[in-house]
Amino acid sequence: MKSRKLLMIPGPIEFEPKVLQALGAPTASHVAPNFIESFGNCIELMRKVWLTSTGQPFIVSGSGTFAMDMVAANLIEPNDHVLVISTGYFGERFAEISKRYGANVTILAAEIGDIVSLDDIEKALSIKKYKLITITHVDTSTGVLVDPKPIAELAKKYNTLSILDGVCSVAGEEIRQEAWGIDVVLTASQKAVGVPPGLALLVVSQKALGAFKNRKTPVCNYYADFNNWLPIMQAYENRQASYFGTPPVNLIAALEVSLRQIVAEGMENRFLRHQKIATAFREAMLALGLKLLPVYKNLSANTLTAVYFPKNITGSIFLSQVGKNDVILAGGLLPSHKTLYFRVGHMGSVNNNDILATIAAIESALFANKVSFEMGIGLKTALKILNK
Ligand SMILES: *Cc1c(COP(=O)(O)O)cnc(C)c1O
Repeated sequence: MKSRKLLMIPGPIEFEPKVLQALGAPTASHVAPNFIESFGNCIELMRKVWLTSTGQPFIVSGSGTFAMDMVAANLIEPNDHVLVISTGYFGERFAEISKRYGANVTILAAEIGDIVSLDDIEKALSIKKYKLITITHVDTSTGVLVDPKPIAELAKKYNTLSILDGVCSVAGEEIRQEAWGIDVVLTASQKAVGVPPGLALLVVSQKALGAFKNRKTPVCNYYADFNNWLPIMQAYENRQASYFGTPPVNLIAALEVSLRQIVAEGMENRFLRHQKIATAFREAMLALGLKLLPVYKNLSANTLTAVYFPKNITGSIFLSQVGKNDVILAGGLLPSHKTLYFRVGHMGSVNNNDILATIAAIESALFANKVSFEMGIGLKTALKILNK
């Protein structure tokens, strides 16, 4: 019997074999011609995935939190006003990071499982001049999806920079950075981009770069400073050697493979695949009698789903039972609800078989817990949607 587990958490995800092979290839010099070519290709491919022709990509060692830190370090000066639209854990994190750089932070926090209304956002923007507004596209703690398009429009109307934390959405959820006018879209490699952890990835609009160039104070973070990285990104794109800090050569080789796969699938196809698999999974959970964290169906993310445990069972035991069926799921993340729910990632190279195996493992664990439900109803519900 093969001992292989299916990793269905909201990052790191299951990676494509070719991506992992690239990671294991001999490490090139960071100034070797083939590596320079690979880095340049990654920069060009990122624009295709982010759907922008004019944005400036940055590829830097670090996790998603560093991508957030990099944005705050470069775009915030002391006493700037920052508006954080929070739908959970990662909104709170953006507020904390912004404060470190001296921002006056206003948080508009949604109720758990809900979003902040556009009216409330506009009211806040009309009262005070904000330097930037941060949006969590998919908050990985709640599985809530925010529509960034109308918020970016409001930001433009009030001359505020819009920052999208897309760590759990880029290359999974629909994002059109240029058409929607979003100033920064940031992510990390290990989520829907499909590369092992270690890369902070962001694309910055020319407008945001202009705001950066108009800073009056130096950036208080040496490693994150755009002034250090911008010449490096431009050099690699021009296929020239350059050095500021040693790039993670193997991860960038793997990134090129994954970005090529994403572009080959096509962004529209990729958005639709995520929507279909997520719908199948959500409907399966509802058919099993389980409850979701998002308070309305249309607020549910397509990259992960947050589900309440059935009443009267111990969550940790339930998750270990699912694990014995060779499917690894994640527990809760919101401190106040941590033990009440679990999270299932379905992004990146996820396919129909993965989601069906996950539903089957959940059904088996429900059965082991003597929860009353109709065996197979989750699978049947999902199959109907997947076969449409
Ligand atoms: C995972 C995640 C982060 C943090 O990324 P790390 O790579 O863990 O630092 C930030 N925001 C969102 C929405 C995420 O899902």
